[in-house]
Amino acid sequence: MKKQDQETAEAALRREIVETCRAMNALGINQGTSGNVGARHRDSLLITPSGLPYDDMGPEDIVAMPLGRDDGSYLGKLAPSSEWRFHLDILRARPDIAAVVHTHSTYATALAICGLEIPAVHYMVAAAGGPTIRVAPYATYGTAELSGHALQALEGRSACLLANHGVIATGPNLKRALWLAGEVETLAKQYVLAQSLGAPQILPDDEIARVVEKFKSYGPRGKA
Ligand SMILES: [Zn+2]
Repeated sequence: MKKQDQETAEAALRREIVETCRAMNALGINQGTSGNVGARHRDSLLITPSGLPYDDMGPEDIVAMPLGRDDGSYLGKLAPSSEWRFHLDILRARPDIAAVVHTHSTYATALAICGLEIPAVHYMVAAAGGPTIRVAPYATYGTAELSGHALQALEGRSACLLANHGVIATGPNLKRALWLAGEVETLAKQYVLAQSLGAPQILPDDEIARVVEKFKSYGPRGKA
């Protein structure tokens, strides 16, 4: 690939990260600047900067962090999101993942506050890869401990909840990760509402396994 093409690909991905942040707010799954977005570009993580309102954020504000280091090294004039560590660790540990969307969306976070995973109350749970969306135990934001808990909760899955914190949704590209973040919030809302009406019926694991297979060709799929 020519140098000019590489720069173009990076510039496009930086633009897409900014657009994803604004889309999180438009979808109502983010409060203020609490969410953050990261994506893989070659051997780097591109991630939103710390504390900058999305309306003021441009592609040049996105921070690059080398995936080969875990000491918080970055390139750019702004510091990375304080939650860079799980973005970096997820991309390092999971070659199938190229994008990470993190939010504190209300219903999913409400379940996480109670330490509750999302069971198979709807077949859409399969969008995250299995019969549950697990909840990772609590640890202070930004720590390696939280990152370790998240990686465990994400095993064989593309999304998880973080106890007393929020949601991580991932995907092979930003479109898919953003879509999944919205789906997790919708599932959480449906689960919470269903419990106010009665006892939710849980779908069996073999049914979810069938739907996981069907979903391999479902959902928005852009370029990887
Ligand atoms: Zn957070």
